[in-house]
Amino acid sequence: MGYYKMKKIAFLLIILIVAVAGWGSMIVVYASSSHAASLPPTPTSVPSVPTPHTRTIVDNPATVAPTVKNDVVAQGSSTLPEVALTFDDGPSMYTPQVLNILQENSVHATFFCVGEWVQYYPNYVQQEYSAGNVVANHTWNHPDLTTLSSVDVQTQISRTSTLIQQTIGVQPTLFRPPYGAINDSVKAQAAQMNLTPILWSIDTEDWTRPGSDAIVNAVLSQVGNGDVILMHDGGGDRSQTVAALPRIILGLQQRGLKLVTMPQLIQDMNS
Ligand code: ZN
Repeated sequence: MGYYKMKKIAFLLIILIVAVAGWGSMIVVYASSSHAASLPPTPTSVPSVPTPHTRTIVDNPATVAPTVKNDVVAQGSSTLPEVALTFDDGPSMYTPQVLNILQENSVHATFFCVGEWVQYYPNYVQQEYSAGNVVANHTWNHPDLTTLSSVDVQTQISRTSTLIQQTIGVQPTLFRPPYGAINDSVKAQAAQMNLTPILWSIDTEDWTRPGSDAIVNAVLSQVGNGDVILMHDGGGDRSQTVAALPRIILGLQQRGLKLVTMPQLIQDMNS
């Protein structure tokens, strides 16, 4: 074995020692050996400390694989001065207040409803629809669809679409995956049920209850043409969202942005 090769092996061993230093004293034995066959495991094969699965329960478009992003709608036209307000996780006891504010301001929104809450508050969903808002599908009970079997994904989506159809007389055409978690399989299932997957471009993070000023600011500090604004009318205490909504609507209108439903935003983008 040549000097250069020996030196190289020694160098590698030093790296290995550093890499696994805190890991066991047996390394020292290996370190003095020049036999490649008895080299300790390379750092890449050192078993790593298992990290806990720390998925946060947040609607976050960052969790969507980039390859999927182009196939879902997360934003409208960047050249048209219009935006869409979207409300997820309802209906709930806060939905009537949201509807009142929309109606007082003569604007419409898109509601991504959770099936089991549609079952509980069918009247609110009917009011959403009869006031000119759009009712859309947000699954039956809000699972991360990418973790389910395709049969379960289908049940989550189809059961909700069926109930919405029974509640307002119209099949939903839009679908938002909980947490923004979507993959090719979920997309295929949605397509099979004639649903367009919708994400968002502005996350108010209203569900964290950061205060109504922060919710207003999350929208008005960054909003522009075509934005899809994510808010929540269900899933917890939404009094801050309700308090923020009139100021958000006013601020959008002051910026010359028209508030439209998601189907309108999509139609205008494609025409
Ligand atoms: Zn949700």
